[in-house]
Amino acid sequence: MEQETLKALLRAVAQTVIAHAEELTALDQAIGDGDHGLNMKRGFERVAELADDISQHPLPQALTEVGKTLVMTVGGASGPLYGTFFMTLGKELPADPTLIDLSHAFNVAITAVERRGKSSAGQKTLLDVLVPVHEELSAGTANVLERVKHRATSAADATIPMLAVRGRASFLGERSIGHMDPGAHSSALVISAVCDFLGD
Ligand code: ADP
Ligand code: MG
Ligand code: MG
Repeated sequence: MEQETLKALLRAVAQTVIAHAEELTALDQAIGDGDHGLNMKRGFERVAELADDISQHPLPQALTEVGKTLVMTVGGASGPLYGTFFMTLGKELPADPTLIDLSHAFNVAITAVERRGKSSAGQKTLLDVLVPVHEELSAGTANVLERVKHRATSAADATIPMLAVRGRASFLGERSIGHMDPGAHSSALVISAVCDFLGD
């Protein structure tokens, strides 16, 4: 990916997260401690600030830098998980990845998040977006951006009726049912922003 394109992509994703910070906070107020919007905003503001530097690297190293930045700035439960996800993508991707490379790296990154979070899909977390998105990535190139974006959004919605089994929301037990998981929503926002950018 061209340096200028990568820089614009990082900024576009950061803008989307920052623009939705209040929405993410509201979701986390319902079933957590109300900081997910601020956590993500802080992290992606830093990514936007560093976009110039980060985009000087080839794509894999740039993703590793994004991951490190998120680990250092986001905090909470989500910071290390997002950080692990991006750092693993960076480690697994070749410089000029095909969709098959991306699908493979995405899968390894999911496994790394599962390990770190001691979690799996079905527990009302960001994995409930990442795992379905991987399914779309592995299903081939036809309309992949559209399919991934649509699936990410519907997968975040599908966390509403789930019972939280991991993270702070699990402290609420049955009362976690009926609210979208904040991390699932932020993951869908990041993935949708990437799809929108690459689709233009
Ligand atoms: P905290 O809960 O520490 O305040 P955040 O509010 O930033 O951190 O992030 C909460 C989100 O992190 C949840 O909505 C969920 O998606 C994700 N999360 C929390 N714990 C786990 C876990 N063990 N595995 C996967 N995702 C998790
Ligand atoms: Mg929180
Ligand atoms: Mg917190």
